[in-house]
Amino acid sequence: CKRRGFIYQSAEIYGGLNGVYDTGHLGTLLKRNIRTAWEKSISKHGEILFMEGSLLAPSAVWEASGHVANFHDPMVDCLKCKHRYRADELDLAKPCPHCGNTAWTEVRQFNMMFKTQLGAAADNSSVAYLRPETAQAIFINFKNVYSTNRVKIPFGIAQMGKAFRNEITPKQFLFRMREFEQMELEWFCKPEQADSFFEYWSEKRHAFYANIGITPDKIRLRPHASDELAHYSKQCVDVEYEFPFGWKELEGIAHRASFDLQQHSTFSGKDLSVFDEETKTSYMPNVIESSVGVDRLFLTILFDSYREDVVEGEERVVLALHPSIAPIKAAFLPLSKKLNEPMHALYQASKNTLGIECIFDDNGSIGKRYRRQDEIGTPVCFTYDFESETDHCVTVRNRDTTKQERIALDQAVPYLQQLLHLS
Ligand code: ATP
Repeated sequence: CKRRGFIYQSAEIYGGLNGVYDTGHLGTLLKRNIRTAWEKSISKHGEILFMEGSLLAPSAVWEASGHVANFHDPMVDCLKCKHRYRADELDLAKPCPHCGNTAWTEVRQFNMMFKTQLGAAADNSSVAYLRPETAQAIFINFKNVYSTNRVKIPFGIAQMGKAFRNEITPKQFLFRMREFEQMELEWFCKPEQADSFFEYWSEKRHAFYANIGITPDKIRLRPHASDELAHYSKQCVDVEYEFPFGWKELEGIAHRASFDLQQHSTFSGKDLSVFDEETKTSYMPNVIESSVGVDRLFLTILFDSYREDVVEGEERVVLALHPSIAPIKAAFLPLSKKLNEPMHALYQASKNTLGIECIFDDNGSIGKRYRRQDEIGTPVCFTYDFESETDHCVTVRNRDTTKQERIALDQAVPYLQQLLHLS
C-alpha cells in the first residue's frame, strides 16, 4: 500500500500514530470510487437524501443515544509489562501474550469516545465529543430533513463521513482504526413496514458486494443471536467477509425500531414524531440502519482482489479490481518516446471525453510498465507502436487475462466507454 501510494502511516516521520492512517493519491481515488458505488447502489433502491453532519456534538446527544453510558469496551493491563488488552479478546487464565506474566489489573470499562472541551470555559456545558458514528447526526436532523425536502415516508437519509473511536487495541491495519470513515443509511418507515424493510435492505446490501466485484463465496449474512443484540436493536444482521484472519463484520444492518427518535424526543423535549395524513394520527417512524466502514471495505477490496501469478515465466502481482472501483481506468503507453505525441493525444481524449482517471507512462520497458499497472489494478493498457503510424490501430491489453488485441485508434474511447459502462 505504501510503495504504490495507497496508504501511509499517519505522521510517519514522527514515528506514526497508532490506529491512524493517511491516504495517498491512488487510495484517495479508490475511496472515492467506493463512496460513489455505495451512493449509487442505495439510491437505486429507494428515495435517499444525503447530508453531512458535524464531527463534534454536545454531550447531550451522546447521553440520549446511550454512548456516554454504554459505549465501553472492557480493558485490562498486564501488571508486569503494562501492555493493554481488550479483556473480551483475552483469556485471563493464560499468560500475557507479550511478556508471559500472569498478573492482571482489574477489568475496567473504557469509554471509546474522544472527549473535548469547546472554547475557553471548562465547565460541563462545554463538553463535546468527536462522533463515534455518523448516525446520530441523521437522527437529530431527521425533522429538518423531513420538513425541508418534501419527502414522504418511507425514505432514507444517508451520510458518509469520519467517525472516531478510541479503540483500546487498533489492529489489522485498516480493519480497526481510531479515525475512520463510515457510510451510513438510516431508512425511516412506518412501524408495520419495518420487518419487511429490514429483509429488503439486508438483501440489497448483501448483493452490493458482488456487484462491486467481491467474491460472492467470501461474503455472507450472519444474523445476530438474541443475546448478541445491542440495547437499541430489535434485529441485526452482519455482512461478513472472510478475511485472512477469519470471518469478520464488514457492515452492520440493524432494525432499530423507534429507539433513536424516541430517545432524542425525550432528551431534547422536541417531538420527532410525524403526522400520518391517512389515519390522522402521529407516530414515531422506525429505522432500518445500514452501516459500513469505507476503510474496512477498502481493506476487503484489497484482500479480495490481490493475486500473485506468473505471466510468461515472470511473477507478477495483480489487483483484480472491478473496473468501477479501480483507481486508474486505463494506462497509455507509447512503445518508444518517439511515439509520445499520438499516444498522449489519445490519453488526453480519453481523460477529457470520459472524465476518468488515466495514466500516461513512457518510462521503462513495456513489461515493467504493464506490471506497474497490474499491481495498482488498472483494467486496460493501450500501447502505440511503430505499426500504429501506418495501420492507425493501438494494442489494448487486458489486466486479468494479459490478452492483447488490436483495435482502431478511433475505437479506443468507445471501447473504454463500454468497458466502464459509461453512457
Ligand atoms: P466491531 O464489532 O468490528 O468493532 P462494531 O459492531 O463496533 O464493529 P459498528 O458500530 O456496527 O461496528 O460500525 C459499523 C461499521 O463501521 C463496521 O461494520 C465497520 O465497517 C466500521 N467500523 C467500526 N469500527 C471501526 C474501526 N475501529 N475501524 C474501522 N472501521 C470501523
